[in-house]
Amino acid sequence: MDLTPLKDTPHRRFNPLTGEWVIVSPHRTLRPWQGKVEKSATRDAPHYEPNCYLCPGNARADGAHNPPYSSTFVFDNDFAALLPNPADLSIAEAGLLVAETERGICRVGCFSPRHDLTIPRMCAADLRLVVDMWIDQSNELAGVPWARHVQVFENRGAMMGASNPHPHCQIWATAHLPNQAVREQASFEQYTRKNSSCLLCEYVRIERSLRERVICENDAFVVVVPFWAVWPYETLLLSKRHVGSLADLNTGERDLLADTLKMITTRYDNLFEISFPYSMGFHQRPLRDQAGGDWHLHAHYYPPLLRSATVQKFMVGYEMLASPQRDITPEAAAERLRQLPKVHFLDRS
Ligand SMILES: [Zn+2]
Ligand SMILES: [Zn+2]
Ligand SMILES: [Zn+2]
Repeated sequence: MDLTPLKDTPHRRFNPLTGEWVIVSPHRTLRPWQGKVEKSATRDAPHYEPNCYLCPGNARADGAHNPPYSSTFVFDNDFAALLPNPADLSIAEAGLLVAETERGICRVGCFSPRHDLTIPRMCAADLRLVVDMWIDQSNELAGVPWARHVQVFENRGAMMGASNPHPHCQIWATAHLPNQAVREQASFEQYTRKNSSCLLCEYVRIERSLRERVICENDAFVVVVPFWAVWPYETLLLSKRHVGSLADLNTGERDLLADTLKMITTRYDNLFEISFPYSMGFHQRPLRDQAGGDWHLHAHYYPPLLRSATVQKFMVGYEMLASPQRDITPEAAAERLRQLPKVHFLDRS
């Protein structure tokens, strides 16, 4: 297959996970990159912040105090978007005004007691504790009889709306499959019906043979800028083995997931030498689903930055009204991320 025309011809690319298209305009970025690099070193950031509601021992919004925790720490969000036992509600007016009750559990998980320690700067052993926290929470929430989906996600940086810089994630369980899961579930099933193989197993195989969009990998995981990426430095973290959930990972793979998190986020921070903002999250097999066997565990990273620490990509205009569009090709973005140093810029002397 000849993929050379993708380098300079405007085209659109298909996203097989969502069934949507993205417009790619490579002719607009043939000019050399001249973005300025702004450093904002955080080497001297405090380990503990008296006013942080996530730091050990501090008071939270509802008056409760955090325990003096020394590794990871999970609690129910004091301002939960969903509640486990809301009143029953069901509206279906002419098929146009449609609403139903949604039950949910919303938790917050702190990665460590350290207020300043982001994932790329954590050590392997501590990162493994974060992976274990995700697995423990996923298992526990899978035991809630009405739960059908567990979403683990991290919003990092004020640009992504993170309300607190203390490194943490959120874990939501819901009674319904959310939009993204519904779409991906249908795509996995459809692909397997047609091809008798797994969509993402096949995709991993193609990317690893082409190597054009691969950024980093170890024995259990590979990170690529997906062929259909919308955000400039969007990446997809894929398990090499066909597993449906974090809990399906064996001990070795859990260590290697910790390693992979560090590899990709270090490159992100090194890109503009800042603490790189993003939204990321894992897509796991829906709970209690007969057809869930087709599901392949993966994580999406969606960073908002375009050319520098301050130039952000906005989804406006044509993108809001019609279809997303990008200038820098996924191949060029992958090349840049791949070339970056493997050691975090703050950990270099
Ligand atoms: Zn804190
Ligand atoms: Zn698979
Ligand atoms: Zn996904």
